[in-house]
Amino acid sequence: MQTQIQAARQGTVTEAMERVAEREQVEPEFVRQQVADGQAVIPANVEHDRLDPMIIGREFATKVNANIGNSETESGVTEELEKLHTAVHYGADTVMDLSTGGDLDRIREANVEHSPVPIGTVPIYEAVKQVESVEDITHELLLDVIEKQAEQGVDYMTIHAGVLLEHLPLTDGRKTGIVSRGGSILAQWMEENAMQNPFYAKFEEICEVFAEYDVTFSLGDGLRPGCLADASDEAQFAELETLGELTEVAHEYGVQVMVEGPGHVPMDQIAENVERQQEVCNGAPFYVLGPLVTDVAPGYDHITSCIGATEAARAGAAMLCYVTPKEHLGLPDAEDVREGLAAYRIAAHAADVANGREGARDWDDALSEARYEFDWRRQFDLALDPDRAQSYHDQTLPGDNYKEARFCSMCGAEFCSMRIDQDARDADGKMEAIADETDLERSPAAEVNRPPVGTHEVEGDGLLDDADLDGDFEVDLDREYPATDD
Ligand code: SF4
Repeated sequence: MQTQIQAARQGTVTEAMERVAEREQVEPEFVRQQVADGQAVIPANVEHDRLDPMIIGREFATKVNANIGNSETESGVTEELEKLHTAVHYGADTVMDLSTGGDLDRIREANVEHSPVPIGTVPIYEAVKQVESVEDITHELLLDVIEKQAEQGVDYMTIHAGVLLEHLPLTDGRKTGIVSRGGSILAQWMEENAMQNPFYAKFEEICEVFAEYDVTFSLGDGLRPGCLADASDEAQFAELETLGELTEVAHEYGVQVMVEGPGHVPMDQIAENVERQQEVCNGAPFYVLGPLVTDVAPGYDHITSCIGATEAARAGAAMLCYVTPKEHLGLPDAEDVREGLAAYRIAAHAADVANGREGARDWDDALSEARYEFDWRRQFDLALDPDRAQSYHDQTLPGDNYKEARFCSMCGAEFCSMRIDQDARDADGKMEAIADETDLERSPAAEVNRPPVGTHEVEGDGLLDDADLDGDFEVDLDREYPATDD
């Protein structure tokens, strides 16, 4: 068995690369080259049968991750599969299972079995659940947990191997210390045992396990800043240097790598952060959480962070980990997941348009044409969240006759500027010429991105098959999701 990067380096275009090229509308050889160079990853564990392969890299459409998983107190397999369904329904390109309670193995296996998108995990969470206190975690336990999760088909794992013992004093003057869950657990372990980070110490053995199953590293940023004041500090960049070295080691072992990034970063420092990561990590895909561009808006952190995420993707970040409105405040429910994913798909798409990604703008053009034609049904259909668009429209103008109306309730019939403009053009005879030029059905723009890159077509039998793209999918609004901080 060869990993995707090993095959790519030998000049082989794998089936996964062919599929990715089809989805991204690029040549398979381009995909192969990007994977061979370590500038893109195809997280595809050989044991994940149901996977529809996708690619993460700055030369491809920007991707969005959603976190699911249970808490210590509740949730079983069925509930977790509903969460997976919700995340995929709203457009998640990958899903991280951050479960910390219940039957972790059964939940993980069920997620992998049913998911068409790559599944990521943070193995330190499971290791913590198997010991009385953090300092009791052993190297053997960590390796066992990682190997078991690899066997179960997990496609990528967050491994916080870059937080070193010598980095810890660098966080002393911080306003919010270590905010990554994985980072804080490892800091406690290192301090209690007076030993180096076990993931760092055993990194080569982890590489061997990952190479066997083609698990992709998501090198965790355990020292990411938790507030604007701590952004771009010595601790953060010291860890980044280590992540750069580890990226090289993993590539030597034929293992794919992406690198995680901050956090909370003022807008003016984001591009610089992305460029630095790209340089230090030799172009390995950057996977960022936000970043939040201000600390003052709890309750709206899907917005504060998607502003930063747009800027990060514009500068070259390849995947964005969504943040929901509940960030810093509580467990998100399904409605929060919907809000978070919508915000992040907007961020990803806006960056793709700004970066001139082939075909990205066509989606905007198709919707704009439908809007100017007063083709309301097509406008809803093309909307990023069709159900939301139609329900807002129908709140005031619910009847079928309004689906052909040349106005909506925002300006009203008399003041509808598009209607006034069209009437004026009609009077000039210009509309006829425009109408001749505009044929929505035949426009190449109308079909590109239908479904948009990132919205997964789901086929076959199983939980994720039923009607999830038909608009009649029911979401349990009381369902709770884990916080995004790993
Ligand atoms: S009424 Fe205003 S918002 Fe509504 S379609 Fe016309 S111009 Fe657009």
